[in-house]
Amino acid sequence: MSGDKAPRPRGRMFFANPGPTNIPDSVLRAIATPVVDAHDPDFLNLYGECVRGLSTILNTKDQIFMYTGSGHAAWEAALVNLLSPGDTVLIVESGHFSEGWAKLARPLGFAVRTLPSEWRVGLDIALLTDALIADVNREIKAVCVVHNETSTGVCIPIQDVRSAMDEAGHEALLLVDAVSSLGCFDFRMDDWRVDVAVGSSQKGLMLPTGMALTGVSAKAMKASTTSTIRKHYLSWRHMASRPERSFVGTLPVNQLFGLRESLRLIEEEGLTEVFARHERLARGVRACVRHWAVNGGPQLYCSNPARESNSVTAVLVPTSQDADAIRLTCRTMFNVSVGSGLSTLRGRVFRIGHLGDLNEPMILGTLSSIEMALVVNSTPHNPGGVAAAMASLVGGPKSRAAT
Ligand SMILES: *Cc1c(COP(=O)(O)O)cnc(C)c1O
Repeated sequence: MSGDKAPRPRGRMFFANPGPTNIPDSVLRAIATPVVDAHDPDFLNLYGECVRGLSTILNTKDQIFMYTGSGHAAWEAALVNLLSPGDTVLIVESGHFSEGWAKLARPLGFAVRTLPSEWRVGLDIALLTDALIADVNREIKAVCVVHNETSTGVCIPIQDVRSAMDEAGHEALLLVDAVSSLGCFDFRMDDWRVDVAVGSSQKGLMLPTGMALTGVSAKAMKASTTSTIRKHYLSWRHMASRPERSFVGTLPVNQLFGLRESLRLIEEEGLTEVFARHERLARGVRACVRHWAVNGGPQLYCSNPARESNSVTAVLVPTSQDADAIRLTCRTMFNVSVGSGLSTLRGRVFRIGHLGDLNEPMILGTLSSIEMALVVNSTPHNPGGVAAAMASLVGGPKSRAAT
């Protein structure tokens, strides 16, 4: 060894980041399949299987459009296809990702209203009902909600949002960011009458970043015909006129090979078991953090037990501590990638992603490494969180032993 470059650590990097997530080996191999001609029957089969699999995960019979881009592309597609300049959108505040949606909407020329919420608790549904009832001139054209706020680890029950809209008798479109819930816990586009569901490849779908999707209801398809915003690359009308009814430009064939394999893995495990695994691992993580929290240690950022996320846990560190220092120790000393705090939570929280291709030993390895990082950084905590996670994983109400 020469110079000051540290040797590469041995073993695998543990990815406990809420996105991008671990890519299963078989998905990586599928992506390495030699490209096929997009006019070939093999490709049409591949494409059909991808659409069918995504429809199952979204629980929808509606149209699905796919994009080469990250989740932002699907957010933008939803807004520019449905709305016209000056239209009002109501964004339910939840954290960094609701802010991101608002940041994207403003320069596009929409009037953005934000429904405030306490980040640690999540939306007060009654406030949404009130805001919709108060909109007597029906200025609000779309209500935008993040199903699982990846920055806080708080989820919002979409069925309650739908009920609030029904109670107010408001006809606005319901746009839901399901990027970090799809493939992790239940999402019912048709039952909840979601007009646009936004998804992305690099979270629960276990793929590289670079593909996004929207499920689009019949009501939203109709609304899109009156939109006066100019668009081309993200235009649904343009996409619908293509044989694939998705994408504009070259098709990401190898990404679709990967998607077919990730959908196959989900089907093989069974969606119910995929959700149960996410819940079991999430409960284990929370049991660990609750244990650390005793006597002023790091605690769950989500303070609303009914809304704890099964895909990501944000951990609030004691005020004397820097969450990024703990992350840095995890990465440099133990080769574990932990998510950072976003927006105003930078340095105050770290985030444990427990979505996608993960199992018990990966979660325990991650939690052990974080607990060691707490020791290294002299962060106050109640030692033994990992034992609490182990007890939850085999002995808790939703554990393997209990089922
Ligand atoms: C990751 C994520 C996004 C999309 O971000 P991109 O980086 O554009 O893919 C959007 N919303 C939520 C809730 C997310 O977790």
